[in-house]
Amino acid sequence: MMRPKATYVRPGTLTEAVDLLQDLDDRCKLLAGGTDVATELRSGAIRGRCLVDLSALPELKGIHEAEEELVIGSGVTLSEIASSAGVARGAPALAKAAAVFGSRQIRNMATIGGNICRASPAGDTLPPLYVQDAELELTSSSKTRRVSIRDFIQGPGRIDLKAGEILKCIRLKKAADFTMHRFDKIGNRKALAVSIVNLAGLVALSPDGIIQRIRLAWGSVAPTVVRSSRVEAFLTGKPLRMETLDQAYPLVQDAISPIDDARASAAYRRRVAVGLLFRLTTQQESPDSIMDIA
Ligand SMILES: Cc1cc2nc3c(=O)[nH]c(=O)nc-3n(C[C@H](O)[C@H](O)[C@H](O)COP(=O)(O)OP(=O)(O)OC[C@H]3O[C@@H](n4cnc5c(N)ncnc54)[C@H](O)[C@@H]3O)c2cc1C
Repeated sequence: MMRPKATYVRPGTLTEAVDLLQDLDDRCKLLAGGTDVATELRSGAIRGRCLVDLSALPELKGIHEAEEELVIGSGVTLSEIASSAGVARGAPALAKAAAVFGSRQIRNMATIGGNICRASPAGDTLPPLYVQDAELELTSSSKTRRVSIRDFIQGPGRIDLKAGEILKCIRLKKAADFTMHRFDKIGNRKALAVSIVNLAGLVALSPDGIIQRIRLAWGSVAPTVVRSSRVEAFLTGKPLRMETLDQAYPLVQDAISPIDDARASAAYRRRVAVGLLFRLTTQQESPDSIMDIA
């Protein structure tokens, strides 16, 4: 197989890929769909590094559904996630996030593994993965380990990926026992929009509308996705009504720490973070209702 001097390599198996990484260590850059790496290439940020293309690795493909678990290969594209019956059953909020991700062309190229490893605070697959306590399987030539997504993502663009490791797959416990599965996104336009704020929510409601269990994860309101045990505990046992959600307002404000940037002000993000929470009282049926323009 081709070694060191190459500037681009496309291994055919995972074993080949991790062996290659052992030789190349920090002189290489992993490439999946390339939708983020392309911008780094253009800016010169990764000049001189050997690109290791993961797109031919069969071990990173496919969505496997077991009775209680969903295993999604890191190389699965957003289009595949959006159209998967298994994901629609076991992780509906993730399916919704995938359906409004980028554009059709981006969804056909971009992978879930690339979205996780990019670790953008605005990454759209991240809140749905946080509410399902996703576990990531990382593999190298010497070992395989599992880490929770909350520990893996350490800050914008910072992940716990050791030298020689590849993200192989994502493991999710199915969220079948929740009655409501939400993903909402506010961007600057209807397509190709980076989230100004996004929110994934899972709610188990009693027949009389009492919140029995709730999990909420906001994106783009802090350096990493925010899940607040205080907000979740406060809402548990209360009726799912506007007044209840309104009472959670101060707790939400405490949990988040948004910034001003080119897309929106911190103050706007603070308002939208609560605005998206209020949407839990409304129906969500079509992709049109998932993404709104700021
Ligand atoms: C026009 C446009 C629109 C976009 N719209 C959205 C959007 O709506 N929502 C959103 O969240 N993002 C969006 N993005 C960002 C981007 O498409 C996503 O982050 C995408 O999921 C990245 O996946 P990829 O396969 O292209 O990753 P790549 O660009 O190939 O890689 C991204 C990063 O992950 C690393 N990596 C990839 N796979 C692995 C692996 N298996 N193991 C370890 N490291 C790995 C790479 O080294 C790189 O650092 C958009 C980008 C563009 C250009």
